[in-house]
Amino acid sequence: ARFGPTPATVGATAALRFPTRPALHDDHGTLTYAELERRAAAVATALHRRLLDAAAPSGRQGGASPEARIGVLCRNHRGFVISLLAASRLGNDVVLLNTDFSAAQLGEVTEREGVRLLLHDQEFDEVVERSSFDGRRVHAWTEHPGGRSLPTLEELAETEAAAFKPPRHSRVVILTSGTTGTPKGARHDVSIAALVPVALSHLMRVPVRSGAPILVAPPLFHVLGMAYTLVALGMGMPLVLLRRFDADRVLDAVDAYRVEALIAVPVMLQRILDASRGRPLPDSLRVVVSGGSALHPHLSEAFMDVFGDVLHNVYGATETGWATIATPRDLREAPGTVGRPTFRLTVKILDEDGRELPPGEIGEIYTGGGLRFAGYTGGGGKRVHRNLAGSGDLGHFDRAGRLFVDGRADDMIVSGGENVFPGEVEDLLGRHPDVAEAAVVGVEDADFGQRLAAYVVREPGASVDEEDVKRYVKENLARYKVPRDVHFVDELPRTSSGKVKARALPD
Ligand code: ATP
Repeated sequence: ARFGPTPATVGATAALRFPTRPALHDDHGTLTYAELERRAAAVATALHRRLLDAAAPSGRQGGASPEARIGVLCRNHRGFVISLLAASRLGNDVVLLNTDFSAAQLGEVTEREGVRLLLHDQEFDEVVERSSFDGRRVHAWTEHPGGRSLPTLEELAETEAAAFKPPRHSRVVILTSGTTGTPKGARHDVSIAALVPVALSHLMRVPVRSGAPILVAPPLFHVLGMAYTLVALGMGMPLVLLRRFDADRVLDAVDAYRVEALIAVPVMLQRILDASRGRPLPDSLRVVVSGGSALHPHLSEAFMDVFGDVLHNVYGATETGWATIATPRDLREAPGTVGRPTFRLTVKILDEDGRELPPGEIGEIYTGGGLRFAGYTGGGGKRVHRNLAGSGDLGHFDRAGRLFVDGRADDMIVSGGENVFPGEVEDLLGRHPDVAEAAVVGVEDADFGQRLAAYVVREPGASVDEEDVKRYVKENLARYKVPRDVHFVDELPRTSSGKVKARALPD
């Protein structure tokens, strides 16, 4: 039989190839590949027999309904992976839900996506119950076993024999981060059949190996976390998961499991760097991958000075998967770069009329090839130009063919006719010894159209003030890049994938 790779086939293959190897270490302990596969198969059988019939759209009886989509609302743990493998084994599409959703967002998204069965952590009972979701539920992780009233994954895995069901095609629906609003009625069907080859081709430039433990810190419902989870399963890399991100626990886990590859978003790397001060450095790390948002040069330099030349920067979006990748050498030679296009992927810089721009000139980044992007639900789409999809990001190539992301088109500030990318000012502020982190946004201005406002988090105990911040920028950048407003805040509001939520900044 010929099956395209689905999470289920990837998992089943790994179980045959590496039955006794640890597949996963989480806050509950360790599972081997064979154990993971047995649980996934048993859960699939249980869902099929007991839950999916009832969850099928009305009028459809007999057998698991492939139309009923299965929602996963979990933190990072075995339950997430088992849910993914089980649902995909049944051939049902899996919808990965954001753990930051409000009850209203959860109701809206589950309805829009046709989710009839929800596998979720007990922690989310309240938000699920307050939402309009009215399908079947299973607890994927229980904190208080006494108080539960729903079936749990562990129970399903224990009570069913694993009846083999050949995996069928199933898609994983990954939502965008919703940086620019509620995950904007925009939904993406990412076919796993396309994701795996992209993942493997990407790995040609990242020195990971089968059997090497990999810690995936970003949420697994985000494209970055999901993609590396599938890489780990496919390559037989023991996957280390922490339910919630904590920099000290990441460093502890790196030591405990001799982690060789660490996947994180930039803000996590900053926290890990801060937490590493005053403790012995891990000696097992060979690869650190940053992705999901801009890796400012000040952070990549500081990180590599402490952890060595292990850092990679991947650029991509939910729709495209990995578009480019920068190696440690790229980051040393051209700080701030996102590197070169991945295997079989085209990246072009186009101007507003669709003309390709030469190195050094800034235009919109378009990508072609890579993941097959099946489209958004609820209408809308990316701008497409001759089979290339617009990213909404502005960027440029250097003469050596390395790509730079200057910023999102929406975030560019036009002040007194001059264009300013917040990232450049944020990077500079991040270099100030008294500044822990900073975000720069444009606010309306009667005279200049827009003016720059900086939100600054001080280093603990530091007393840097507004004048210091302005003077520092004036000494280092053009005058029109000096923020006219400086606000000091305790922390920057972020999405669970680490992006600053500009709308949530105080006025
Ligand atoms: P929404 O479309 O709902 O607003 P989103 O665009 O944030 O969400 P994602 O697919 O998670 O959804 O994010 C992709 C975007 O993240 C890219 O278009 C780019 O702006 C940014 N990004 C990702 N990786 C990098 C990187 N390495 N460097 C700079 N920016 C990055």
